[in-house]
Amino acid sequence: MNYPYRHIPIVSPAYRNLRRFVNSRRYAGNNVWCPVCSRSFKSWLNNQSHGSCPYCRSETRHRITCLYLQNRYSNTQLPIKLLYFAPHWGLERWLRKQKRTFSCTTTDLSAPNVDVHADITNLPFKSQSFDLIVCCHVLEHIPNDEKAISELFRVLHNDGTALIQVPCNYSAEYTDEDLSITDAHEREKRFGQFDHVRLYGQDIVKRLKLPGFKVEIFRPTRNYTRQENERLGLWDDAIFVCRKG
Ligand SMILES: [Zn+2]
Repeated sequence: MNYPYRHIPIVSPAYRNLRRFVNSRRYAGNNVWCPVCSRSFKSWLNNQSHGSCPYCRSETRHRITCLYLQNRYSNTQLPIKLLYFAPHWGLERWLRKQKRTFSCTTTDLSAPNVDVHADITNLPFKSQSFDLIVCCHVLEHIPNDEKAISELFRVLHNDGTALIQVPCNYSAEYTDEDLSITDAHEREKRFGQFDHVRLYGQDIVKRLKLPGFKVEIFRPTRNYTRQENERLGLWDDAIFVCRKG
């Protein structure tokens, strides 16, 4: 699995720093607030109601994960062993700052600057190595997602939790999947992105339950007022909270 758009030379750390500096000034204001970088702006990038953060480029999915972690683990005394797949710059930075709460290991098959390069379908970790897993928008890239989900289950402690997010057509009963489609344009048209191999439907929950996970669907926007959702830039996205115990 490759993420070619991550390796475009122009998206270097120096360019990203410059972009953050420029955007912080261009979008200066106090209409919206990003919980990932704790900064406020006059608007989001690209989309007025739920675009990306001008500073850390968080999307709704990163912001709801950050809010979940803040709310769920704020009183934790011992560092939680966390495995973070395909890390987002801003959310990883936030996690690294919470040293008393999270001991973070980042992983990806090919992205630079992660702690461990690993194939999610064959993880190089002992069983029950982690208390918490964050796996955001990864499974839709993996042909054998059943094996990937079973590996997440294996490396998680018996009382651990995996926070899993995928692009999902919540109105569709079944996942749209055809592994014989390998053309980038065809994949983009059918699954939403050139390197996606499926678009999940409601049956994602059944797939997650296969190795034994108990699944709760967490939709945080339903806990907030319309004004709060607008300020946080959230659309009605979900986290699949998967527990072993
Ligand atoms: Zn941000």
